[in-house]
Amino acid sequence: MKWIPVIGLEVHAELQTCSKMFCSCPVVDPTLSQPNTAVCPVCAGMPGVLPVVNQKAVEYALKVALALECRINHTSLFARKNYFYPDLPKGYQISQYEYPLAENGILNIPATQGDKVVRIRRTHLEEDTGKLTHIQAEGQAFTLVDLNRAGVPLLEIVSEPDMNSIEEVRLYAKILHDILVCLGVNSGDMSKGVMRFEANVSLRPEDRLELGTRVEIKNLNSFRAMERAIAYEIERQTGLLENSLPVQQQTLGWDDTAGVTYPQRGKEEAHDYRYFPEPDLPPLVIDDAWIERIRLQLPELPMARMRRFEHQYDLPTNMASVLVEETPVAQYFENTVQAISGQDIPPIEAANWITGPLYSWMNTTGQRIDQLKVKPADLADLMKQVQNKVINLNTARSVLIEMLNTGKTAGAIITEENLGVVSDRTQIAGVIRQILHENPVELESYLSGKTTLENWFFGQAMRQLRGKANPDILRDELHQALEKRQNG
Ligand SMILES: [Zn+2]
Repeated sequence: MKWIPVIGLEVHAELQTCSKMFCSCPVVDPTLSQPNTAVCPVCAGMPGVLPVVNQKAVEYALKVALALECRINHTSLFARKNYFYPDLPKGYQISQYEYPLAENGILNIPATQGDKVVRIRRTHLEEDTGKLTHIQAEGQAFTLVDLNRAGVPLLEIVSEPDMNSIEEVRLYAKILHDILVCLGVNSGDMSKGVMRFEANVSLRPEDRLELGTRVEIKNLNSFRAMERAIAYEIERQTGLLENSLPVQQQTLGWDDTAGVTYPQRGKEEAHDYRYFPEPDLPPLVIDDAWIERIRLQLPELPMARMRRFEHQYDLPTNMASVLVEETPVAQYFENTVQAISGQDIPPIEAANWITGPLYSWMNTTGQRIDQLKVKPADLADLMKQVQNKVINLNTARSVLIEMLNTGKTAGAIITEENLGVVSDRTQIAGVIRQILHENPVELESYLSGKTTLENWFFGQAMRQLRGKANPDILRDELHQALEKRQNG
């Protein structure tokens, strides 16, 4: 029997506003701040304090919901989700439950077998918890509590169980990640925990539609952990089902080091949390004018931009998808294309320069594209030098490295180092005469029929001219010289 995986994903994304969801504490970078320095009575859960909704967080959430084509609920409600944990000082988390901000969205993913629509069940606002660090000291176990993250705005995006392979989950998560970054609501820096996943996984027999028993895997903090955990779970459940053993409905953790899932607790039900409407917050009311204002602010999203790049600039899909991954890169590309317009240079050449030499430079130096000393106009200028045959492509590559290092223009480097292509026929003919003179054995065997040696002479002459000869002129002069020898 063949088993089909059925996978749904919950994505928890921090909304990187200036201040927290319900108080004015700053949202701080966990790698740059001391523990418990961004905490006030509200996010520390002191009695008698009152939460106030962060308007910016609502706007960010609306952006995401609209980008996912969700229906925005004009009235949504905050609720208390009650449970005890040391990272939750209030003893409850303010979240949205029965009446979420938005519902019924979609995300298109370009899967191998064709485009696929993943339905978004809901998108809602909540607050993050604090962070616990477990340590061992003097033979004892301690847990440190840092509340800097407690109360940071969090957006939960819940998909329907519409994905049937690891590939589809990977695409879904990646595209969603890129959308959040593109909208400017999340840095996308996974190493800082700004986006976390929970997956629900079940298997169904190929010939039946009803779903099997599902498990939930919590706390998946990277794309890789998510993929590995789901793959592990598919394999584990297949093993159980093939031995006619039941899959238990439960909540699992993921041990990234051991590469296994493990039971965390029995599956909790919604009623275990004793949800009830947050009495300290009024209903969140969003009118049409607000929705339209946000809709007008939406930028072009990565997938739409990718399709446009394919058509408008005649780029292959893989190249277009690399260029749209980050908005600044896409802008850099379009600005470069703008700067070479009217030069009869196809846009794909700009794409080649960016995805080739510039990307490897950025990978090596860790620079972002907006930090490069070479701006789009500078790159365009270099491309024009190649187009106008002032330098050849090889020279251009080394000129670019020098531009990146020094910030000098292509023209300045070419002049200073005398790198211009040699197109002077007299000079080239002189070098060819010298090469033929210095290699009588090769010349003899050429004249007796080994005509492939023409390429060898070409290489020798080019080397003599330090790679700067105009190849067309060099080939032409060489051909003439050899013909003259042949006839005389
Ligand atoms: Zn606070």
